[in-house]
Amino acid sequence: MQCEICGIDIKGAPIRATVEGTVLDLCSKCARYGKVSDKWTPVSRKIMPTERVIVTHKPRRDAFDKLGDELIPDYAGMIRKARESQGLTIEELASKMMEKSTLLRKIEREELVPEDAIRKKLETALNIKLTEKVSSQDQRGGGFIRGTTLGDVAIIKKKAK
Ligand SMILES: [Zn+2]
Repeated sequence: MQCEICGIDIKGAPIRATVEGTVLDLCSKCARYGKVSDKWTPVSRKIMPTERVIVTHKPRRDAFDKLGDELIPDYAGMIRKARESQGLTIEELASKMMEKSTLLRKIEREELVPEDAIRKKLETALNIKLTEKVSSQDQRGGGFIRGTTLGDVAIIKKKAK
């Protein structure tokens, strides 16, 4: 192997260096005229910063915002009691609501969870409220007790009579 600049025989491995854009195999003397490939790595140094992982923390408030009115656990009993207090049979209530009695029977037996449209009809027909507010404020305060809600239900029941 000969040095590509001075032409002397290189003992051992030549030094690979870049001289004015051309990669040459040089002797140790001539290597200083060029830039040694191993050390000349500005390209890889430029890539490095983009490899950083940018971690963004999204607030978890969205989950709370979606919580609104929630169907009360005892919706079936509430419907039945309100209906009976008005002296209505399931059939009578169904015709009042323009719904099928089989549908209402299933709801009262908790075989079916009323969808929003049906729930609103029931609330209007029986003058009751089948939902409870679940707000982020209640959860933050830690004072969200089911008993409070049941108390509210009792008040509504009295009004319904
Ligand atoms: Zn040389």
